[in-house]
Amino acid sequence: MSLGTVAVIGGGIIGCLVARRIVHEHPASTVLLLDRDQVGCGASRRSAGLHFPRGTTERVRRMSEYSQEFYEKLRAERPAVPIHPVGMSLVSRADHDELERIYARPVRRDDAPAALDACGAEVRVPPSTSVWDVPGAQYADVQRLVQALVSELRPRVDVREGVRVTALEPDEGGVRLGLGTGERLAVDRVVLAPGPWLGEPAWAERVAPLGARVKRIVALHIEHPADEKDRAVVLHDEDAFLLPLAYRGHWLFSYTCQDWDVDPDRVGVGLAAHDVEQARACLGRYAPSLASRCTTGRVFCDAYSTSRQPLLRRLDPDGRVVFAGAANGSGYRLAPAIAAEAVQLIDQSVKGSLR
Ligand SMILES: Cc1cc2nc3c(=O)[nH]c(=O)nc-3n(C[C@H](O)[C@H](O)[C@H](O)COP(=O)(O)OP(=O)(O)OC[C@H]3O[C@@H](n4cnc5c(N)ncnc54)[C@H](O)[C@@H]3O)c2cc1C
Repeated sequence: MSLGTVAVIGGGIIGCLVARRIVHEHPASTVLLLDRDQVGCGASRRSAGLHFPRGTTERVRRMSEYSQEFYEKLRAERPAVPIHPVGMSLVSRADHDELERIYARPVRRDDAPAALDACGAEVRVPPSTSVWDVPGAQYADVQRLVQALVSELRPRVDVREGVRVTALEPDEGGVRLGLGTGERLAVDRVVLAPGPWLGEPAWAERVAPLGARVKRIVALHIEHPADEKDRAVVLHDEDAFLLPLAYRGHWLFSYTCQDWDVDPDRVGVGLAAHDVEQARACLGRYAPSLASRCTTGRVFCDAYSTSRQPLLRRLDPDGRVVFAGAANGSGYRLAPAIAAEAVQLIDQSVKGSLR
């Protein structure tokens, strides 16, 4: 069934997978992919790109599993995509039942090591803490992945980069879009995948009732060679991880920053002193020798929902505009499942309008 003409606004990992899904599932549709920048240059560009099968709710676990299968199939079909399987050790005080609920098939290590090797140093395993192996982890160069997928879509999708959407007006007949170029477009449906740009004038009022907020995300780089045999270490109780980015030749340390309500157009200006202090304080509890080596990194932000589950919502009474995002710092991990739900919502509203 054709969905008519669908404009996907936002060419990050979510918008790109939405466009791809429409092309594959509803090939008679016409698809536009609009981005004010180049595709893959928003939060997706700064992503650590770590995927591992986890979810604190049943829904997110399902989404995570769906996404895992999607990425595995993509890799099998196109071995050149920049997705890299990685071994993963998880360190936590949490009990067996809790970890088994959150992670898919974690395996507890019986040898109870006092430390793990990561980044050429020892990462302490504190007393009464256990170590688990978590199968199925991988990480991606998310920007390159988006670019590769969009280049495949170009023959079938009207990709418009450097084109900002400045107005979004749904009515019973369709959706009118105003563009920064002065052009106006009339489309049947819109999937809005704006990443952290929730406050864009074209949709700020429609998106505000969703209650999503934008949080800064910071990851430090550690200049130590990383290769394919290195394992990621997840510090579950800290919501932090050490990741060997073999394709970039260094390690990354991600910790949880609590700076809220930031502006994506102003946040990406480099690390602040307090970013480095917070990262060092967290890593220092496990690997003091690594903490002092955290001097560079990446800073950006992402949209977070109040439920900490991705938001898929109709933004108008007819369901012509669907919001897809607020992925809570897990937008790479969950993008395939978010895209599937977004297209399902559009599909349902098309079927509803035919009745
Ligand atoms: C430092 C960092 C580390 C991260 N690590 C991980 C990780 O390890 N694992 C994980 O799963 N997730 C991680 N994330 C989160 C993940 O990167 C995001 O959730 C994901 O990239 C969001 O994708 P998106 O498509 O929603 O948004 P984006 O990639 O931001 O795409 C949105 C697009 O919308 C466009 N846009 C905005 N306004 C307009 C407009 N008016 N008109 C047209 N286009 C517009 C932007 O230009 C942008 O390209 C991390 C994020 C950061 C910042």
